[in-house]
Amino acid sequence: MTEHDHTHEHDHEHESGHGHEEDSSATEEARAEAEAAARRRLALAQIRQYGDPALRLVAHQVEDFDDDLRRLVERMTVLMHEAQGVGLAATQVGVLRRIFVFEPGEEGPHAVVNPVVVDRAGETLIEDEGCLSLQGVRVPVERAVGLTIEGKDENGEDVRYELGEYDARVVQHELDHLDGVLIIDRTDDEHRKQALSTLRPRIVLR
Ligand SMILES: [Zn+2]
Repeated sequence: MTEHDHTHEHDHEHESGHGHEEDSSATEEARAEAEAAARRRLALAQIRQYGDPALRLVAHQVEDFDDDLRRLVERMTVLMHEAQGVGLAATQVGVLRRIFVFEPGEEGPHAVVNPVVVDRAGETLIEDEGCLSLQGVRVPVERAVGLTIEGKDENGEDVRYELGEYDARVVQHELDHLDGVLIIDRTDDEHRKQALSTLRPRIVLR
């Protein structure tokens, strides 16, 4: 899953109950934030973390567009939202199928099954990326500034997305996940070294 600086998307969820004992909106907001943070931790606990072998495996083509697939997409979409991410690949929930969910532009979430890149901009840009499977890590990654992909949705219907810079970056990140590739593989040696020193203690404590 991609985790970006653009955290504004989910910063203002109002999921807390309507307790009457609190009439200060500031208190209400603080409570909503605390609840969102708790939900995020719970979601992250269900997302495979660095060191998990599933993150390094290549996902297989989806053959059956059935209820199991639709349930998986629903679960991934909920996890993406609760983890406050902007994309999530099936490998990150330990399912080795070629599926990811993302939210392009201002639209709602979409699933792409068996995605194929049909066009890629020649121009690239280096920007920091995070990943919900590599908590605490942000590294510069070079990506094409535009991307067109085709695939299926969770019902087996054809989909095609022509994506600009930010969404193109998200999708390139998710496509990497489906091939077992992580942002630390795409960054420079210095940042990789730093990232690994951040990730290593986490593994020892597991
Ligand atoms: Zn990721």
